[in-house]
Amino acid sequence: MRPFTLSKPSTISQAVSGKNEAVRYIAGGTNLLDLMKKHISEPDALLDVTTLLSDTVQSAPKGIRIGAMVRNSVAASNSDIRSGFPLVAKAILAGASPQIRNMASMGGNLLQRTRCPYFYDITMPCNKRKPGSGCGAKDGENRMSAVVGYSEHCVAVHPSDLCIALAALDASVIVTGKDQKAIAIPFKDFHRLPGSTPEKDNNLPENAIITSIDIPANAFNKNYAYLKVRDRDSYAFALVSVAAALQLDGLRIREARLASGGVAHKPWRWYEAEQFLKGKEATQATFSQAADIVIKEIKPLSNNGFKLPMLKGAIEVALQNCLTA
Ligand SMILES: Cc1cc2nc3c(=O)[nH]c(=O)nc-3n(C[C@H](O)[C@H](O)[C@H](O)COP(=O)(O)OP(=O)(O)OC[C@H]3O[C@@H](n4cnc5c(N)ncnc54)[C@H](O)[C@@H]3O)c2cc1C
Ligand code: SF4
Repeated sequence: MRPFTLSKPSTISQAVSGKNEAVRYIAGGTNLLDLMKKHISEPDALLDVTTLLSDTVQSAPKGIRIGAMVRNSVAASNSDIRSGFPLVAKAILAGASPQIRNMASMGGNLLQRTRCPYFYDITMPCNKRKPGSGCGAKDGENRMSAVVGYSEHCVAVHPSDLCIALAALDASVIVTGKDQKAIAIPFKDFHRLPGSTPEKDNNLPENAIITSIDIPANAFNKNYAYLKVRDRDSYAFALVSVAAALQLDGLRIREARLASGGVAHKPWRWYEAEQFLKGKEATQATFSQAADIVIKEIKPLSNNGFKLPMLKGAIEVALQNCLTA
């Protein structure tokens, strides 16, 4: 690992003014340290934000504010999150392992980098790691890669489970930038598609720090499901995942939310299928039609055609599971 300095800013103002291209914030370190050990990220300095940022969950009638330094395991067991936003708790618990969740912060989870094997192997071409070097995965090992929203420059997927639930629930990311002003970035605009700049994962303004995540109050806390399909039951990233939530009047669907991980460079909302579900009866036939709408969007790569039937099944099962949550 390359030598670096480590310091602890004591104010947000110090943190954002001390940040530049060669400086990284470090929270739990569960992703950043791996990237540094593999020479993928080589900062000159780390700013430790573990005691700077909020590690509390604040509940209010309008919704919930989760501090960026709340550990993933703390969020998953928080009573306000479990009662009002159980989809979030469920998604967190589908990720990583208990030890990693104990270290991982909510803010850091949003910024974890892709698990594309070419990104982690510095002998391989990868436009995300080294712009202009090519995309090894596009015509190579792309079993885990995207099936929607990708470009010729990058076919990677976003690895987070938490983010899929946050996307489904229309969360916002609260950030403070160099001008010291706090702004809210809607979750749908936070992560990016690769386009011709796959090196950029998200739209976090230069030098900005995430201070919290807001989730608006909702009525998706009774009928919800997070389904993650993976190669093994722990320590594995999603082949496909589905966050589903319904608001029901009897068996009639008033509102639906449907999002997936393991399919795109960002958490992916299935807006057309959500619209289709609205007003329909919550039956197996309806769920199957919604899944058909989803898979119309899918364009598999050379090695991941299996994701098409997998996703169709996962969506049907997740929607069905909403009825028994
Ligand atoms: C073996 C393994 C398995 C895993 N499996 C899963 C899984 O199945 N599902 C899943 O969702 N995740 C999984 N993860 C990823 C894990 O959840 C993330 O590594 C973790 O959430 C990152 O949080 P952190 O606090 O450790 O971030 P760090 O590693 O400290 O930071 C990550 C990035 O975020 C930046 N950063 C951190 N906090 C802030 C902030 N407040 N503002 C601005 N920038 C910030 C850092 O500079 C860095 O670039 C796994 C990780 C490992 C090691
Ligand atoms: S898919 Fe993206 S991360 Fe993977 S090799 Fe291609 S450019 Fe790199």
